Amino acid sequence: MRIVVTGGAGFIGSSVCGALVRRGDEVVCIDNFNDYYVTSSPDGRRFASRKMNNIASLRDDPSFHLQTRDITDRLAMEATWPRAVDAVVHLAARAGVRASFDDVSIYEQTNVSGTSDVLEIAFAHSVRRFIIASSSSVYGTNEKVPFSEDDPTERTISPYAITKKRMEQDCRAFHDAHPETRMTLLRFFTVYGPRGRTDMAPYRIVDRCSRGAPFERNGDGTILRDFTHVSDIVDGLMRAIDTPFPFETINLGNNQPIALNQFIAIAELIVGAKLRIEQKNAQQGDVPITYADISKAQRLLGWQPATTIEQGIANLVEWYNRNPEP
Ligand code: NAD
Repeated sequence: MRIVVTGGAGFIGSSVCGALVRRGDEVVCIDNFNDYYVTSSPDGRRFASRKMNNIASLRDDPSFHLQTRDITDRLAMEATWPRAVDAVVHLAARAGVRASFDDVSIYEQTNVSGTSDVLEIAFAHSVRRFIIASSSSVYGTNEKVPFSEDDPTERTISPYAITKKRMEQDCRAFHDAHPETRMTLLRFFTVYGPRGRTDMAPYRIVDRCSRGAPFERNGDGTILRDFTHVSDIVDGLMRAIDTPFPFETINLGNNQPIALNQFIAIAELIVGAKLRIEQKNAQQGDVPITYADISKAQRLLGWQPATTIEQGIANLVEWYNRNPEP
């Protein structure tokens, strides 16, 4: 198949591109290489080359094509849309919960308008199969756990979550207008592992622990997260590409939430060092728990997360040690 992956140089996207190329698909990676990794950390200049490095091993592969492009630049997207595309995996987004409070409009432009533009342009070029990244954040502060796909999404508490919810609604409307499309929305739950996003706790914990630098922990560390290893997310995504439904929304989560403090304790054991915790107030936008009901993914995709938290953190540490950043 010939597949467009938007956001293909990012954390999840680069792993998806690699997996698709390895199994023989042709991939067109569209990414604007924005400076979010640089601006979202105090020492962010260390990450200036991270996205290019994520796809470095693919650059010489004849099945991999890179288009450095902004999905919100509609004219350029229309003018350069690749020919004969079978499916779009749409991952490009502004993805940080906390940063979304500082620049709501870039989140709306990218996650809401940008997604609509991608759908419309791809559809006009005869693409009918779409796999789109949504987020567990749409469940907000729901108290009923685990979160299942039919649960209400009224209690979102960050601009990021609101944009993902609006994106989901727009996708549904798009499908209603074009029922011949095949569309799967995947709600990812706290993804971690090799190439981990530099603003997320898993990467920051391993990085700070390895360098002896302080880790700013927001709150007391009892928040529960359904940490899901990136290889399991890629597996679910590939199954979704290969199993087109008219329209489905499916959780991809580990189904075993643990406290942030437990993640820290396991990381400390694997790194072999104690993390220096700098205590900060709880962060606006952080929900107390994420916990995926995955019975739908099991039933429809035959998907089951396979990576234990210990193995997943070991994978992240091993990758971190092999890829030193200044
Ligand atoms: P990421 O920031 O590493 O990847 C997103 C990629 O999109 C980046 O490479 C970025 O440069 C690109 N991008 C952003 N705006 C763009 C634009 N206007 N034009 C072209 N490219 C653009 O984030 P990620 O963690 O890999 O997330 C991928 C997707 O998964 C996102 O849609 C995110 O909302 C979703 N998601 C991620 C998680 C997680 O835990 N990482 C959880 C839930 C949902």
